[in-house]
Amino acid sequence: MAELQRRKLYDITAPNRSTGIIGGQSSNILNWDDGRFPWAYPLYKNMLRNFWIPDEVNMAGDVKQWPQLSEDERDTFRKIIGLLAFLDSVQTDYSGKAAAYLTDSSLSALMSVLSFQEVVHNQSYSYVLSSLVPKAEQDAIFEYWRDLPLLRDRNDFIANGYAAFTKDPTPQTFLESIVYDVILEGLFFYCGFAFFYNMARNGKMLGTNTMIRFINRDEELHVRLFTQIFRELLAEHPELDTAENREFVRETFRRAAELEIAWGRHIVGDRFDGITAGELDAYVRFMANKRVHELGIDRPFDGYRRNNLRWIKAYEDNDAGKTDFFESRVTAYKKASDNGFDEL
Ligand code: ZN
Ligand code: ZN
Repeated sequence: MAELQRRKLYDITAPNRSTGIIGGQSSNILNWDDGRFPWAYPLYKNMLRNFWIPDEVNMAGDVKQWPQLSEDERDTFRKIIGLLAFLDSVQTDYSGKAAAYLTDSSLSALMSVLSFQEVVHNQSYSYVLSSLVPKAEQDAIFEYWRDLPLLRDRNDFIANGYAAFTKDPTPQTFLESIVYDVILEGLFFYCGFAFFYNMARNGKMLGTNTMIRFINRDEELHVRLFTQIFRELLAEHPELDTAENREFVRETFRRAAELEIAWGRHIVGDRFDGITAGELDAYVRFMANKRVHELGIDRPFDGYRRNNLRWIKAYEDNDAGKTDFFESRVTAYKKASDNGFDEL
């Protein structure tokens, strides 16, 4: 398959409104009112609306509670922060690499906002740990990704998918890397989120939880961005919309769910009041089904259609104003002039 060309810094012969998501013509000049994708500007506005600053969250209550947590709770807390620090660091970089091949200035702009938000997420992990533990312990937690075998398996799974694209950027490897992206941002965070939300339910570590909720809210929009790009890619390149690729998505999510379930059992298992290993397994399969459905592909697992952790709803803040977002099909988009810009 032909290698993808990077977006030019500027192109004097190309229109401002791009002609394609990849391999298209684009002057690279950003005019939000002259864009190819009507969903891009509303998404941009939502991302900006979510702006937050970690060190404005008060950690005084968490600092008091930290020594009173069980050793198990503290151990899981540290491991999850260690995992998240890896994922957000890698994500900052991957999003920039993927963006380099998008021949559309509005999508590359959205990627810049996404990258920036991943940097904020990493700041929050440093801030949480520097509030709770001595510097040497904080530094050690940022090393977990190297040594914990279960973390290595998960992280390598994602990193190999990304590397296949960066080494050999073609439409096919780009498509595959988006699937790994949606796994990273839309599945691999979620056992960790569930642990923190279960703590909040028990009145524990509410400052940290505030940040986790903000991160969760950001990640939902990141998943939307990549999901939209995936769907646009299939619409623009019907040759990629094959039974093989659809099965690739399902199979990759099945493998990812296994890794997430193994991780969930390791960090949560049946050790904490309010959540069981079986419930968390089912939740992971539900999330995998949800993400694959959002990509416009048949779900990988039979059943698991509803969120079995009903209480988690209270903690997820998913910007309900856009509930029909995934229901709208690529082919059914309104014209740019009808996209509600005037009301914004
Ligand atoms: Zn993030
Ligand atoms: Zn993200």
